[in-house]
Amino acid sequence: MSEDTVDTSFVPQLDARQRAMLAEMGVRVWAPKPRPATAASAPVATTPAAATAPRSAAPVARAPMPPVAETPVATMRPARAADVQAMDWPALREAVAGCTACGLCKSRKNTVFGVGDEQADWMIVGEAPGENEDLRGEPFVGAAGQLLDNMLHAVGRSRTGQGAQGAFIANVLKCRPPANRNPQPEEVVQCEPYLARQVALVKPRVIVAMGRFAVQSLLKTTEPIGRLRGRVHRYEGVPVIVSYHPAYLLRTPTDKGKAWADLCLAMQTQEDSTSAT
Ligand code: URA
Repeated sequence: MSEDTVDTSFVPQLDARQRAMLAEMGVRVWAPKPRPATAASAPVATTPAAATAPRSAAPVARAPMPPVAETPVATMRPARAADVQAMDWPALREAVAGCTACGLCKSRKNTVFGVGDEQADWMIVGEAPGENEDLRGEPFVGAAGQLLDNMLHAVGRSRTGQGAQGAFIANVLKCRPPANRNPQPEEVVQCEPYLARQVALVKPRVIVAMGRFAVQSLLKTTEPIGRLRGRVHRYEGVPVIVSYHPAYLLRTPTDKGKAWADLCLAMQTQEDSTSAT
């Protein structure tokens, strides 16, 4: 079969309608490779983009949990980066719930910590809660969230899945900016330690950064998404795949094929990391 031929029949997570739709779009599909008897052989890239991914980077080790901070969380107003870096899950949740580090605490109804298996192989990083998320205290529950859930479902991942099938979903900001305005630099600076600690605790095999603010926060670059897609970046040693925000995809459905290719690269990256350990 030529490189360009689309054969989706071997992908177990897709039903016949999804396969037909993807074939119609000419979209390449990721599928797990049969595992060799030993994990020694190097995996073969299935997308041109994956072929450019650095292979020498060490996989992310699953180290034991760091010690719990000795300082009681109640005294941390606001919690600062050094304190946050030492927190375990309960302390981190409590710190986010009580955070007053920026002005967003005045208008929020709920903080939006994040959702998913704390040991998930995937992390999805979005921008900030919207109105629905603020009301529910959960990320991506509006229309963009439904699209995100469908996208994850198409690659056999979900916010309720565990481990290799799981995705921990978090935002750069844990509080809703009023009227869904863009996050302000000072708000991002104050909130970033929480996301950094979430990444350190989850130890995902791959992060999918969705949208400009997630990409800028994790990768510290102002390069446009279109120029960053298709290769593997790193955040604290964790592979990062850059993709479009689901809200953008709702407005620009013609770019859904590119987002699908990004998910395929994320699957490939996860598999490479798994085979290397
Ligand atoms: N958009 C985001 O970036 N995050 C959410 O949680 C909801 C919408």
